[in-house]
Amino acid sequence: MKLWEKYHLARTADEALALLSNYSGEAQIVAGGTDLLIDLQQPEKAHQRPKALIDVTCAADMNTIQLEDGIFTVGAAVTHAAVVKSALLERYATCLVESCGVVGGPQVRNVGTLGGNVAHALPAGDGTTSLVALDAQALVGWGDGRREWLPITALFKGAGVSALDSHRDLLIAFRFNACKAGEGCAFKRIMRPQGVALPILGCAVWIALESDNETIRDARICLAPVSQTPTRAADTEAALRGQPANAETIERAVAVAHKTLHPRTSKYRATGEYRREMIGTLLRGALPRAFERAATGQAKAEGVGA
Ligand SMILES: Cc1cc2nc3c(=O)[nH]c(=O)nc-3n(C[C@H](O)[C@H](O)[C@H](O)COP(=O)(O)OP(=O)(O)OC[C@H]3O[C@@H](n4cnc5c(N)ncnc54)[C@H](O)[C@@H]3O)c2cc1C
Repeated sequence: MKLWEKYHLARTADEALALLSNYSGEAQIVAGGTDLLIDLQQPEKAHQRPKALIDVTCAADMNTIQLEDGIFTVGAAVTHAAVVKSALLERYATCLVESCGVVGGPQVRNVGTLGGNVAHALPAGDGTTSLVALDAQALVGWGDGRREWLPITALFKGAGVSALDSHRDLLIAFRFNACKAGEGCAFKRIMRPQGVALPILGCAVWIALESDNETIRDARICLAPVSQTPTRAADTEAALRGQPANAETIERAVAVAHKTLHPRTSKYRATGEYRREMIGTLLRGALPRAFERAATGQAKAEGVGA
């Protein structure tokens, strides 16, 4: 079974875009291939197979992790393993390291990329969940020649449906603020213990404390999947703002989350009722970690695989 005719290795984002343009929609971007190669092998998708694959894993300008003036820029072709190894990301964007550190097993993390995680547009990509809580922006090279930064949430149009057409458009990089003094973040996920399965629920939180180190100034939360696209839990965030960073506040936020978020029953994940209960478990796990990181400035990623 031939899955493609030509395979190109792009050395830069511009070269990848030029190759896409030359094929006028008949080529497709491949990064780690951990999602795409499974898709290409589906017999029912045989008619959608591209003529050529454009591999971006060696595109130098899509492979860097930079921290400049308090802003991280992370290339879309950076692997989950590279995120996990970054001491800077662990210190200043801990939730991203915790989420990339639980993706698949070591083989998947070694080749799977942050860009592939976002471009695939599943409602519960682990890297994606943390990027949403970090309020990340994505740099897109559109097929018509425009380049623009846009909020990451603007890329998601439905479950598995992206605003990007990976036959024409390229996700080049992400940017987000590093955690400053008084800010902290955390990610936790609940998964069936056996084998490879879909996550039951994931949760990334970002917290900013007032200078008293005790009052929550701002909060961002992404619980996923609770809808077709990764989205912020706005009502739960509102229940935290202006409140003391303690267990009572967390319980009030859990009550709001239970009232406003409605995870579905999924035969691949769990019943809606169970998943709803797990919202509380995740918030009670992630929020205290983020409070502590914000208050102490100490951040050591937890639960990260080898
Ligand atoms: C065994 C296994 C376990 C997994 N476990 C997890 C898990 O625990 N958590 C999780 O979140 N995911 C998991 N995944 C899914 C997958 O590994 C991740 O989503 C990974 O980040 C995908 O990245 P990739 O580089 O392999 O993407 P690819 O497979 O190369 O590409 C995926 C899609 O994105 C497009 N694309 C890729 N890069 C770009 C770009 N820069 N610009 C435009 N389009 C692009 C491709 O054309 C394709 O449509 C698992 C997969 C497997 C096989």
